[in-house]
Amino acid sequence: MYFKYVIIGAGLAGLTMAERISSELNEKVLVIEKRDNIGGNCYDCYNDEGILIHKYGPHIFHTNHKEVWDYLSKFTKWNYYQHRVLTYIDGNYIQMPITTETINKLYNLNLSNDQIEKFLKDQSLDIKDIKNSEDVVLSKAGKEIYEKFFKNYTKKQWDVYPDELDKSVISRIPVRYNRDTRYFTDKYQGMPKHGYTKLCSNMINSNIHILLNTDYKDIIDSIEYETLIYTGQVDYYFNYKYGHLKYRSLNFDFETVDSDSYQDASVVNYPNDYDFTRITEFKKLTDQKCNKTTIVREYPTWDGEPYYPIPTDECNEQYSKYKSECNKLKKVIFLGRLAEYKYYNMDAVIKRVLDVFKDRISGK
Ligand code: FAD
Ligand code: UDP
Repeated sequence: MYFKYVIIGAGLAGLTMAERISSELNEKVLVIEKRDNIGGNCYDCYNDEGILIHKYGPHIFHTNHKEVWDYLSKFTKWNYYQHRVLTYIDGNYIQMPITTETINKLYNLNLSNDQIEKFLKDQSLDIKDIKNSEDVVLSKAGKEIYEKFFKNYTKKQWDVYPDELDKSVISRIPVRYNRDTRYFTDKYQGMPKHGYTKLCSNMINSNIHILLNTDYKDIIDSIEYETLIYTGQVDYYFNYKYGHLKYRSLNFDFETVDSDSYQDASVVNYPNDYDFTRITEFKKLTDQKCNKTTIVREYPTWDGEPYYPIPTDECNEQYSKYKSECNKLKKVIFLGRLAEYKYYNMDAVIKRVLDVFKDRISGK
């Protein structure tokens, strides 16, 4: 069997590359996927109650890259959803991230934006060299906010405290001296109108051949190719020669409740209570109308599917050994969250693929 391009993984990275090569270069592409569905971790499907759920955890699309938004908009219409999150602190549901509303609700105050700025700056620690995720919060909001909102959530999620995590992790969550309670402030935000799986299937054209239920190692020796695009785990590709990279996983506990609504926001975080990190109510993300509602609780674990690369110095160092092996291979391109061992959001994955396509494949 000969394909000029073979792609491992039918997640967003693999399918974006398959779409670009097949549409722009009019080449046939073989995509090999070990799961029985396309979409990777963005995969969504209807459950027995007819409610659209995200099988691998809640996915909300947001980006400041117009190029990425325009690209995906060729394959889906959007619900113009803007994400808002509550967090359960000391028995109250409070807006997350940290804004004027959060502080006023936490301390039962009625301060203005300027007063909140002063309040938070007074609490903040003067840390000159921000080295890790703990420093990020302490320097913006002080110890009490750190302990109530971040310390224990992070320990549950990553099994380490924020002082061991790269500063980029908690920097994802802003501190704002205003009343903008949205989780994200990106210019483009939304949910694909008919779901992510539908979006992904709209990317597939007649030049793309997809082989599901197949680990690429079982068949790759029987295929001739010029370029391999690999989006699976980088340590698996190299037979773990530098050891197993750590990935954090999740157990998802889905429940359908015989009630129109379960909670007051699509996502509620539980930093200090229970063993799960958050509860998502899908209908509130997708705007689906239904008498019942499905929720999912996320329990972090070390066993199971590899969902999160671990942003610690130790893991980054181990990955760098694999990275130098990747750089030596001219016929193989490593792309995406697992292959680049990077805590990418969906938009960053697509941006990366579009750039690599231009730089290394189309030559334009
Ligand atoms: P993946 O989706 O992991 O796809 C890789 C594919 O390769 C998989 O289908 C896998 O089965 C296949 N594969 C692996 N090994 C092999 C093999 N040996 N042979 C054949 N196939 C193989 N991003 C956002 O922007 N917003 C969010 O709200 C958001 N929420 C998230 C919530 C959770 C719980 C998680 C885990 C991630 C979230 N993300 C979110 C990130 C998003 O899922 C990723 O950015 C995106 O899915 C990465 O796409 P990918 O193609 O790189 O990887
Ligand atoms: N975080 C936290 N408390 C929260 C929300 C997030 O401590 O209420 C920290 C935690 O370390 C988390 C990181 O910020 O892993 C990034 O949060 P995000 O919501 O972006 O995580 P994701 O959706 O990728 O799981």
